[in-house]
Amino acid sequence: KTFSELALCEPLLRSLQDAGFETPTPIQQQSIPLVLDRRDLLAIAQTGTGKTAAFSLPILQHLWESDKDGRRRLPAKTVRVLILAPTRELAVQIGENIATFTRHLKMKQVVIVGGVSFGPQRAALGRGADVLVATPGRLLDLVQQNAVILDAVSHLVLDEADRMLDMGFVHDVRKIARLVPEARQTLLFSATMPPKVEQLAQFLLDEPARVEV
Ligand code: AMP
Repeated sequence: KTFSELALCEPLLRSLQDAGFETPTPIQQQSIPLVLDRRDLLAIAQTGTGKTAAFSLPILQHLWESDKDGRRRLPAKTVRVLILAPTRELAVQIGENIATFTRHLKMKQVVIVGGVSFGPQRAALGRGADVLVATPGRLLDLVQQNAVILDAVSHLVLDEADRMLDMGFVHDVRKIARLVPEARQTLLFSATMPPKVEQLAQFLLDEPARVEV
């Protein structure tokens, strides 16, 4: 199937065309219809397979659909889509991808990583975010400072979950999961599926569809 046959909206299709994406990769072919259908998703996929677009595009499509009849103002400090990544580098990279995909959409995106000063991050979050990409530790610091509110999150994504656990983020991730609404869509991407990741998936996901490439 083409991206247009996967039922993505025109502004997303135009962004993909600008970026030179012609054909969906296998993980995109499998994941996009399931996520559009609002299923939770457990995906086994390595970097380089196109996994970032596989989770971003259908979620952006949901935001676009809900904004079609007029975009509501983002309440201060609130977030609609939360994407967790294990490292700064990956968070920045996901942010760059989403910036590419939202070229023709009105979406506010914030990327939050550790090791830099809090001030600008607090200011950016103060105005709310359609999409927040964050590393778990820094996100919890900002929650504790009351700089961000997670009770309006409709979509939660964990990218590179196996690495996140290897880096000791399991408690942080579970804490974050308790701060977002139970009625949400959750996607978990991992390169490998050891028992620890399976356990986390069981905790986070509701009757997930499974895809593997
Ligand atoms: P990822 O696995 O998400 O890190 O993506 C790996 C690389 O493939 C990135 O540079 C993407 O921009 C690129 N990419 C992802 N999907 C496609 C596609 N359908 N067509 C062309 N390039 C793609």
